[in-house]
Amino acid sequence: MQPQPSRRRISPRRLAALASVTALTLAVSTSAGNSGLSPGTSTAGAGPSTLSRTSVHGPCMISAEGEVQMSEGIPTAPGYTRSTGTVRALTLMIDFSDAPGEGDALDRYREFFPETSEWFATSSYGRLDYRPELPVPDWLRMPKSFRAYGIERGAPFDPGYRELVRDIVAEADPKVDFQAYDLLNVLVTPNAGPAALDTVLSVTFAGNKEAPSADGVPVSNASFVYSRQDDGSGSYDRTGYRVLPHENGHVFGLPDLYTAEGGGAVGHWDIMSEDWGANNDLLAWHKWKLGWLDASQVGCAADPGTREYALTPLARAGGPKLVFIPLDDHSGYAVELRTRAGNDEAVCRPGVLIYRVDANVDTGMGPITVYDSRHDSGGCTRSPNVHAELSDATFVPGESFVDRRAGIRVAVTAAEAEEYRVRVTRTPPD
Ligand SMILES: [Zn+2]
Repeated sequence: MQPQPSRRRISPRRLAALASVTALTLAVSTSAGNSGLSPGTSTAGAGPSTLSRTSVHGPCMISAEGEVQMSEGIPTAPGYTRSTGTVRALTLMIDFSDAPGEGDALDRYREFFPETSEWFATSSYGRLDYRPELPVPDWLRMPKSFRAYGIERGAPFDPGYRELVRDIVAEADPKVDFQAYDLLNVLVTPNAGPAALDTVLSVTFAGNKEAPSADGVPVSNASFVYSRQDDGSGSYDRTGYRVLPHENGHVFGLPDLYTAEGGGAVGHWDIMSEDWGANNDLLAWHKWKLGWLDASQVGCAADPGTREYALTPLARAGGPKLVFIPLDDHSGYAVELRTRAGNDEAVCRPGVLIYRVDANVDTGMGPITVYDSRHDSGGCTRSPNVHAELSDATFVPGESFVDRRAGIRVAVTAAEAEEYRVRVTRTPPD
């Protein structure tokens, strides 16, 4: 395997995953409700069990205007897995006659756990209690060869996937009650299919009502992980698991933030943008969407005038985390404080991150855009698989973000270790 060039911008995942965008989305538009693996008839909404908000937050709860299959809008559409409380992840390791599992299936499991559970515990401030469960602690042998399923990339339970999921259910059913779980992880033996450096096959079907059924519930929220995201830099043991929190992010309703051009829209500021290389967290917008922030931690700057807001580091539990400045019913600016702590291990310029969120823009098409406070600087990191240019995008005291047309200014006025202050000015429309 070739070592990956350290400045590589577009990981192989993007190419394959772009194809999977269609898969995720088709499914979503036909789903409703949320129950176990399925979008059944539970009264619980998708995403968080409850979204923290007050009437003051109304103007900041942007939503899609038309048909957006996987949107940044709040609240998340129904059909996805609940993102707060205890979530039981049925985790199966599968192999094939032409790709027999090498060694202990539990070693494959240990490539992703306990890291994935810990990642969610840290990112959610303990609000998501993610429990992987292993009712079948061995390789589950599929009845057909890997080649016979014809899996080349993710499509919405295309014939190959339908067959694979049906066979997984048939093989596991004697030992597994599918109704007892909230999502499904399928960890495919890494010798099946191409190396992740060549083609990333890993894919998630989220909110898919058309999914094959198991124990009376459709397997609607399922993440498949293939190969190993090993860039040859020697960090695989520490960072290779990160494909799973990315794929599970889709199960909870989060869209892809990279585009056909790669990670240039959001850089390394969210695991839905870049999941190779050093660890990274989710944007504060995603944390609110997932129900991991209280209403008191989110400021909504909807009214004309000037107001000061405090922000505490996103990686630390408690305190104000997000200021949102709505532009209209479907878009706005988000403001948050990022430091090198918690899941954020590649932050090289702590400061205030400002980005535009558009609920009308679909997954993989650039629903979020980070504003770079230092254009063409080359960035402040040389960490492999971290989009360098945006790594110093943050604003520090004395710097301002200005949108003249919308009459919006965000100035960073003060910085202490545990708290920054920002002044948001909205000029009344003429
Ligand atoms: Zn993805």
